[in-house]
Amino acid sequence: MNPVYDNDNIFAKILRGDLPCIKVYEDEHTLAFMDIMPQREGHTLVIPKEPAVTLYQLSPEAALACMKTVQKVGPAVQKATGYEGSSIFQLNGEAAGQTVPHIHFHILPGSVLNIDAL
Ligand code: 5GP
Repeated sequence: MNPVYDNDNIFAKILRGDLPCIKVYEDEHTLAFMDIMPQREGHTLVIPKEPAVTLYQLSPEAALACMKTVQKVGPAVQKATGYEGSSIFQLNGEAAGQTVPHIHFHILPGSVLNIDAL
């Protein structure tokens, strides 16, 4: 239920600058970057700089900062890709399908309902 944070996870390395990413937006508390295996054009990830595996471990302040970034980046991604709507989602824990153990929000232009594997 409360997994221990691994400082060597991929997104921690991206935050430290040890791994590259295509940066979309960054501020004091969050980073937004393109997904390396996009489910669709424009697939973007928003992560907090605070270390946490799941949303349930994240401080309310960091969660709010993530939502502010989603509100900035989501409409821009949607406009750039020409989709009418967009889907925001995130997974908590391996059993839910989370593959990178640093909390992240997916911004996916269009509907998430017609994608089989996420
Ligand atoms: P999850 O299944 O954990 O919700 O989603 C993890 C996401 O991170 C996946 O969509 C995957 O393509 C993306 N991802 C995994 N490794 C990397 C990486 O090294 N760089 C970037 N930009 N995205 C990654």
